[in-house]
Amino acid sequence: MVSPLYRNETPGQLPDSWYLASAELPPERPALKGHHRADVCVVGAGFTGLSAARHLAAKGLRVIVLDAHRVGFGASARNGGQVWSGYNTPQRQLAKKYGAEHARRMWDLTQEAKADVRAICAAEVPEAHYRPGIAEAAVKPAELDEMHRDAAFLQSAYGYDQMTLWDRAAMRAVIKTDDYHGGHLDMGAGHMHPLRYLLAQARLAEAAGAVIHDRSEVHHIAHGDPAEVRTGRGRVQANHVILAGNGYLSNIDRKVTAKIMPVNSFIAATEPLGDRADAVLARDIAVSDSKFVLNYYRLSEDRRLLFGGRPSYSIGFPKDIAAFMSARIDAMFPQIAGVGIDHAWGGTLGITANRLPSLQKVAPNVVSAGGYSGVGVALSGMAGKIMAEAVAGQAGRFDVLASLKVPHFPGGTALRAPLLRTAMTWYALRDRLGL
Ligand SMILES: Cc1cc2nc3c(=O)[nH]c(=O)nc-3n(C[C@H](O)[C@H](O)[C@H](O)COP(=O)(O)OP(=O)(O)OC[C@H]3O[C@@H](n4cnc5c(N)ncnc54)[C@H](O)[C@@H]3O)c2cc1C
Repeated sequence: MVSPLYRNETPGQLPDSWYLASAELPPERPALKGHHRADVCVVGAGFTGLSAARHLAAKGLRVIVLDAHRVGFGASARNGGQVWSGYNTPQRQLAKKYGAEHARRMWDLTQEAKADVRAICAAEVPEAHYRPGIAEAAVKPAELDEMHRDAAFLQSAYGYDQMTLWDRAAMRAVIKTDDYHGGHLDMGAGHMHPLRYLLAQARLAEAAGAVIHDRSEVHHIAHGDPAEVRTGRGRVQANHVILAGNGYLSNIDRKVTAKIMPVNSFIAATEPLGDRADAVLARDIAVSDSKFVLNYYRLSEDRRLLFGGRPSYSIGFPKDIAAFMSARIDAMFPQIAGVGIDHAWGGTLGITANRLPSLQKVAPNVVSAGGYSGVGVALSGMAGKIMAEAVAGQAGRFDVLASLKVPHFPGGTALRAPLLRTAMTWYALRDRLGL
């Protein structure tokens, strides 16, 4: 199987996106050459890896980060920018499955994850332009009832008071489509410019003392104490290794790839809408809907519609991403039908079979995290932070997530994609038929 690292990508380059067009990239960092020694070697320079690197370097450890392409190549710099509350499974269900206390500890991690993003944006990255508010919209009446029950649970179990429930009319007044039956607005969640945020994460990690190498794909890890991490032209002997490649991680550890599967998602940025933006979204919030093949969207600071969705389990991207995203925009928002698309791009994220993040200790001195299943913008930073804690000898919070049972995908790495494609086609068909 061709690795998602190369299947749709130009080596060392970020895809054309509105984010790339509205950020300033620093020069490429030099590739790893020769033999190096570190306390910790981090594989992958996305939100997960850079958060781990920053926290570890701040503790005074020697940290080397290796990325196959460059900082900002992965999902972290091309996503929907939605900073979600919680996991891709409602807390109500987590409390039933794992018990009230464990679910509470999981929830606390997600609250801290969001608070970290807000604090970093306020203090270090105002250019990420963090704004509060994600509306979750129900496509079917039964989903609306579920959403309202979930919000009531968060209020009663955790005192979470950031949710406003919307009926159909309240939602229609803000989100100008007839597709929804209502939903809720979560002002404790938010949205931001992910590439600017990521570039700042790299600066912060480096300021703390971490060394980052671009164009340094890890091909092999020789386990041991120390472990040896090998790239084409260099190697790092490290007391600890952190695997943070998520959906892009090439097949360097079977325990990770058995549980995390790459899935593609796509985003289109329209031309600036000017006053027409209010005819789509009357408030500066992000939206995500409950369709199984979900849509997520928001306005950019220059009033473009950034519209994402269409998860795909095929490894290759479709030829004309702009055309199919444009058709979706026209169907949902006929008032801007035919609007120009200035940028369209795809990216690869990691999902797990039960949509819970997969944190593992894959060897005595190797930990991994990924599989955030669509809600990784906030969670990935927390995963990096708690892996750093685990490396420093405090595994308590790492274990809260590592103890969740995340099954292997059926079909192994060869058959899981076709199996999931079949399941997705069925669920997408149900969406279209309104079942
Ligand atoms: C289109 C899209 C929209 C999304 N929208 C949202 C959203 O709105 N909200 C949300 O919460 N989540 C969203 N996500 C998911 C979110 O972006 C991810 O969960 C998160 O960015 C994961 O961060 P990461 O650091 O773990 O992985 P990544 O950012 O993907 O970084 C992994 C890095 O590892 C490197 N790497 C992999 N293998 C190797 C190797 N062998 N050697 C060296 N380097 C390697 C890659 O080059 C890459 O740079 C979206 C994802 C996509 C693709």
